[in-house]
Amino acid sequence: MKFTELGLDAGILLAVADQGYDTPTPIQAQAIPVVLAGRDLMAAAQTGTGKTAGFVLPMLQLLSQGSASTKRKPRALVLAPTRELAIQVQESVRTYGKHLSLRSTPIFGGVGINPQTSALRAGVDIVVATPGRLLDHINQRNIDLSGIEILVLDEADRMLDMGFIRDIRKILALLPKKKQSLLFSATFSEEIRTLATGLLDNPVTVEVARRNATAEGVAQCLYYVDRERKRDLLVRLIGDNNWHQVLVFTRTKHGADALAERLTKSGISAAALHGNKSQGQRTRALDDFKRLKTNVLVATDIAARGIDIDELPHVVNFDLPNVAEDYVHRIGRTGRAGSSGEATSLVCIDEHKLLRDIEQLLKREIEKRMLPGFEPDPRIKAEPIMKPRVARGARPTKPTAAVKTVAAKSHGGFHPPKPAQANRNAPSRGSHHSGSRHQ
Ligand code: AMP
Repeated sequence: MKFTELGLDAGILLAVADQGYDTPTPIQAQAIPVVLAGRDLMAAAQTGTGKTAGFVLPMLQLLSQGSASTKRKPRALVLAPTRELAIQVQESVRTYGKHLSLRSTPIFGGVGINPQTSALRAGVDIVVATPGRLLDHINQRNIDLSGIEILVLDEADRMLDMGFIRDIRKILALLPKKKQSLLFSATFSEEIRTLATGLLDNPVTVEVARRNATAEGVAQCLYYVDRERKRDLLVRLIGDNNWHQVLVFTRTKHGADALAERLTKSGISAAALHGNKSQGQRTRALDDFKRLKTNVLVATDIAARGIDIDELPHVVNFDLPNVAEDYVHRIGRTGRAGSSGEATSLVCIDEHKLLRDIEQLLKREIEKRMLPGFEPDPRIKAEPIMKPRVARGARPTKPTAAVKTVAAKSHGGFHPPKPAQANRNAPSRGSHHSGSRHQ
């Protein structure tokens, strides 16, 4: 199927072609005709599936076909959980709407409210907003939502996770009863279903496979290395492989800062992205990374959610995530929408249990490697994984996982080190091992 078969107007097709896309992704192929037909939509799709264009393209078309309100009240509202996502959706609106005469503006917190107020007062057709700041504008009477024809809740599950449900309900109460509503969510909890039931009118449900679940297109490998040598190993890997755009995940904000600093000292341009950074710093860090001014962006899971970079070639798990599903989300940042990518994990003895969880989730083993000179020291014992502040002074506990010996691969048949006291019989469910996960 081609974009030209979806019933989109020439101006929109031109903008899509300018992006180099001619084939819609599965979510686009399913969602676009539904939205164009004016139906409500409940879509199970996560970042990386092309979902944004799935609602932006038909939304632009419906708006450009309808008549603009004389006072230019907003006609479409997209609610998104984070500033980053709001900015990205807004960028898509601009990119795909460049041959149309619709106006749009992003609305998010953490920056001055006045420029946003001016933009709203000047009149816009499409508002892409995070719920909290939108409510501020509503309270200040900067925006009139009575003309909304199309509502999109993007990443609804994340908005609920982030505690926005009350804000969302307040906003929904101000919208006209008669409108078209589209709800996008990666997961469908009871709470999402309840929200959907109250909001959507006879919706069409579309679902695409969680492409991340199989991590198609992403080559994965891991290096066993000692905890204290991870930084040196990363510097080596970046240098040896000439990686020029790497997103690196750490477990903590402090860890992200420390690593970015270490990389910078080694002559690698790096920046950290996490929740303690100001909005300005975050935008700049992301921008520099996209434009390859910085080669390495070190991020925590929360900060990285929603980062959308075309063809991001490398993701590194400097620390394995505490929750296996997050591994899948992380590596889903690369190899998007058909492009290939590489995900590399640095695994120390503390993380063997986490690794086993991940491999169980993936239903396959990740290729094990080792770099000569960085072989783990078998005398080093596992320590519980926790935030540095708490970890200091904590007693080491038993390692939590037996490590399988990995069959020789083309990489020299490395056998991972035996963790001290490891249980050689892989524990089954309900294992007696005490977990060392700390959220
Ligand atoms: P999303 O899931 O909306 O965050 O999109 C993921 C990535 O896929 C973005 O970088 C898009 O630019 C890209 N993308 C969207 N639609 C297509 C398409 N039809 N073909 C190739 N890439 C696409």
